[in-house]
Amino acid sequence: MNQTEQKKILCLCGGVGGAKLALGFSQLLNPDNLTIVVNTGDDFEHLGFTICPDIDTVIYTLSGRSNKTLGWGLEGETWQFMEELKKRGGEDWFLLGDKDLETHKKRLLLLTDGNDLTAITAQLASDSGIEQRILPMSNDPVRTIIRSSDPLFGDLAFQHYFVREKCEPPVSGFYFHGAEQATANPAFVQALEDPALSAIVICPSNPFVSIDPILSLPGIREKLQQTKVPVIAVSPIIGGQAVKGPTAKMMDELKIPKTSAAIAEHYQGLIDTLILDNTDSDQQQSVTALGIEALVTQTLMKSDADKQALAKFVLDSL
Ligand code: GDP
Repeated sequence: MNQTEQKKILCLCGGVGGAKLALGFSQLLNPDNLTIVVNTGDDFEHLGFTICPDIDTVIYTLSGRSNKTLGWGLEGETWQFMEELKKRGGEDWFLLGDKDLETHKKRLLLLTDGNDLTAITAQLASDSGIEQRILPMSNDPVRTIIRSSDPLFGDLAFQHYFVREKCEPPVSGFYFHGAEQATANPAFVQALEDPALSAIVICPSNPFVSIDPILSLPGIREKLQQTKVPVIAVSPIIGGQAVKGPTAKMMDELKIPKTSAAIAEHYQGLIDTLILDNTDSDQQQSVTALGIEALVTQTLMKSDADKQALAKFVLDSL
């Protein structure tokens, strides 16, 4: 085993952006040395199912089954269920593919049998041949609510904002319903306190709706502030834009500059290092001025080689 494989990493992760870097780590590290804590603020109850979009994205990505064309869901998906649902006047704003339904059915059965989300996620991951540990941030329901400045929308459940309204309502803030009463996943806390841990990596996920729900859990911010290991974030903003999704649009609406320096400011007090894309190397100084180390490399992950290269860059920085 080489030195890289022996490093032990804890990732904080949303869906698509986070899963890309998690995949890079999974290809370099001994499976026992990678724990991925996933946002569940996007979860919701729909058509009788409990849907966990970020967990499913991470599972589909790590098992090599993600749909590269759509950028979400499963490869080779078919839509007969949706066609039938639509024909019969059902709620069709959230697309559930025929193959994807198998995941939701299995989660529902395991929930009905009294299993918690950690056990269910472990089962779904191992059924997909994944050896790394994928943990929901909490077993308790936490639901991200989008506050819109448009009175027509008011407060919106996350998937209503993200999928039904296609991220169009202007955002004025966020609220993580249930977070105060929730308990952070004990396995997550154990991983944070693991004496063998090498680093905590905040993946290039949406800071407001993918990472902040994790940070909103009681005690988690404090644990990140107190940890002895480096906390490294990868900026999800490249050249003033998000690679995908509403991160940059949200920053605009929140009157935050769409820069990696602003991402550093968002995580100030929690992170030691921010990794910025080559495109944003001119922001190194602004990041350093915040007392945060700024490292520059290619952070755009198009190919699997890009994902591995970024993961290797993070590991080599330790
Ligand atoms: P979601 O829950 O599916 O929206 O997923 P995430 O929150 O994990 O990912 C969305 C964020 O990932 C966006 O802010 C994107 O800019 C960022 N992102 C996606 N792909 C990449 C990439 O290749 N490199 C970087 N640096 N950021 C990325």
